[in-house]
Amino acid sequence: MQKLILIKYGELTTKKGNRNQFINKLNDNIKKIIDAKIIKKRDRMYILTDNIDLVSKKLTKIFGLQGIVIAYQVNNNIDEIKESILKILKEVSFKTFKVETKRANKDFSIKSMDFNNIIGSFILKNFVCTVDVHNPDITIHIEIREETYIYLNEIKGSGGYPVGIQGKGLLMLSGGIDSPVAGYLALKRGIDIDCLYFDSPPHTSLEAKNKVIKLASILNEYSGNIRLLVVPFTKLQEQIYKNVPSEYNITILRRMMYRIATSIDKKYKVIINGENIGQVASQTLTSINVINSVTNFPIIRPVACLDKLEIINIAKKIGTYETSILPFEDCCTIFVPKHPVINPKLEKCLEYEQFEYQSLIEECINNIEVITNYTNNYNDLL
Ligand code: ATP
Ligand code: MG
Repeated sequence: MQKLILIKYGELTTKKGNRNQFINKLNDNIKKIIDAKIIKKRDRMYILTDNIDLVSKKLTKIFGLQGIVIAYQVNNNIDEIKESILKILKEVSFKTFKVETKRANKDFSIKSMDFNNIIGSFILKNFVCTVDVHNPDITIHIEIREETYIYLNEIKGSGGYPVGIQGKGLLMLSGGIDSPVAGYLALKRGIDIDCLYFDSPPHTSLEAKNKVIKLASILNEYSGNIRLLVVPFTKLQEQIYKNVPSEYNITILRRMMYRIATSIDKKYKVIINGENIGQVASQTLTSINVINSVTNFPIIRPVACLDKLEIINIAKKIGTYETSILPFEDCCTIFVPKHPVINPKLEKCLEYEQFEYQSLIEECINNIEVITNYTNNYNDLL
């Protein structure tokens, strides 16, 4: 018998017409993150590797998988199946069990229920145990396909769609808690994200930038394809503080961010950010309206309606929280006015934007630094 990893597809199985596209994308995504032999089939994918534990751990971060199973593959032969079950169960301690057979291959002549009974009696003869169909210590799964796969436990996959199935999006990534979570949720729906960070040295520190690089690298474990675009934002930001009354600073700053984000590259079909309704002055509905009015580009806000605690829980689960709470300031927090406007007026914004910002925006876009290599250990720099 051969030990391998068996993958159960996630939501993609409901998209009948797109099935091949989904499976191919998933296959590509797995290859980006895992060095192993992959065999893709219509209903399942099989992965052959010497490093089953590490590979199955990495697979839990790949979207489009419903379940990951460490299985034993044997021929569709009843004696071979029995012999393998004997070997597998000798390694496990249990008092109660049940057998669940799935016969996808109808050429195999014994029906699933009958096969459950045959294997059940075989186990009862060889081990001191009883059958419990409701709450067994172990369930012996037997999937009869072109070959037979036997396994006990299933590791839950991340669900969602394979990254890239929905095209490209650009995530506005700050060093905070919210935007990495927004990025994770966008990846989960199949959006292939790049990240965009507005950097304002010397007002923001190198540590703040490294923190964002670290966050991008954590998100990249779910993608393998993330580019981080760093916008040199200092000049434009300084002009905002020079020309705009302080209570409108953040509103105008964010309008500039949106202008830049939406004109970087046509390949991005959507902008994603970590805005959360009501969390700060720039995130009241009126603020969002006035800020968003610089563009008709689609902007999605995956965490808009979650409570902070819900966002924190996701951040902890996906591994970004510990980095996000490091105390380095991003460019929105350094010049925060005492009384930022909560209900900004569009006419006021237009009035305050009477300085020459277009050329500064172009300068920002033309001087973007692109980071794709996360192999450096940015922990050392933090
Ligand atoms: P976060 O916790 O994600 O930093 P926040 O609650 O601090 O969010 P804001 O600072 O108002 O809220 O930012 C709202 C969103 O704008 C962020 O979630 C992020 O998507 C984007 N953003 C803010 N600052 C930057 C930046 N320096 N670079 C890129 N995007 C940014
Ligand atoms: Mg922030």
